[in-house]
Amino acid sequence: MPDRTLALLGRLDAATGVSGDESAVAEIIADELAGHHDRHESDALGNHYFFHTGSEGAPTVMLCAHMDELGFVVQHVEDEGFVRIAPVGYHDDRMVIDQDLRIHGRSGPVDGVTGAKPAHVLAPDEREKVIPMTDIFVDVGTSSREQTEGLGVRVGDLVTFARPAGLLNGTRVFTGKAVDDRSGCAVMVEVMRRLPADTAVTVCATAAVQEELGIRGAGVAGTRIQPDVALAIDVTLCGDTPGIEFSRLPIKLGEGAAIKYFDWAPAAGYGTAVPRRLTDRLERAAEGAKIAYQREVLMGGATDAWGIQLSGLGVLTGCISVPSRYIHSAVGCVHLDDVESAVELILAFIADVSASGLP
Ligand SMILES: [Zn+2]
Repeated sequence: MPDRTLALLGRLDAATGVSGDESAVAEIIADELAGHHDRHESDALGNHYFFHTGSEGAPTVMLCAHMDELGFVVQHVEDEGFVRIAPVGYHDDRMVIDQDLRIHGRSGPVDGVTGAKPAHVLAPDEREKVIPMTDIFVDVGTSSREQTEGLGVRVGDLVTFARPAGLLNGTRVFTGKAVDDRSGCAVMVEVMRRLPADTAVTVCATAAVQEELGIRGAGVAGTRIQPDVALAIDVTLCGDTPGIEFSRLPIKLGEGAAIKYFDWAPAAGYGTAVPRRLTDRLERAAEGAKIAYQREVLMGGATDAWGIQLSGLGVLTGCISVPSRYIHSAVGCVHLDDVESAVELILAFIADVSASGLP
């Protein structure tokens, strides 16, 4: 794992890219990919496309990682100066209390905290209850609406968790506010950087928007590119921490990228059943290059693969997942070995398609 991947992960995680305004992340990706693509396009939604142009008539492989992160949006400023926020993306309300948040206002970042009623004064029934998002407010230290607005805070401003990223105690476990899906963005950037110049297939690295709001960007991207085969790159859940029934989330941190077989979020109707001819080829590529991998079947979640698969007349689509602990919270963790395994697996797959044609 080159040090530059860690630096890249840190730079991407620190960027602000709540769903709906991912432009700062796109700028970083464009900067990191300078000199590593033949063409760069973007669309009306803010999806960005970086192409390696292969030989005439060769198939197109699309990669897709989403740039957006879970966050909040300012909904109202109280007379007393407190800021009311609405969720952008699917939050677990329990994870939003007692956090440092950063409001990205008109005059720059404004820091605040989400507090709650102290334990000392809670009624017995309140102790048992989760504090709902609708009761949460941000204290930015002011005492009036005028003062808060004076800091540049306005309705519609986006809000992120404010937490520096980094490795835990010199291990290879990286924790950050937005590992979902900046770790996927890092994988995609590394793939493009390491792609051999003579790669026969055309590769389109797609940095997509608004995944956390219901996979809104990827379908548009799939329709635009209509590739011969596509791979989403996203995080998946791990079941290797205390208190989780491992059989329900049988993925471990640090044991390699996961090849998606199936996922389904029945409540939303999203999901991807990856055709065996694609999973077979991904496994063949991994085994041929001696890359560690896991097989993934996930209930309750879905990725950009869903949007791409159903775009246009339909696209052969799979997903390579980076295992992550504490998904959809401010303290998500990924393992550098898994990031590296995902990069190598995708490169091996692209080489396999270049050599042997489409799955
Ligand atoms: Zn994601």
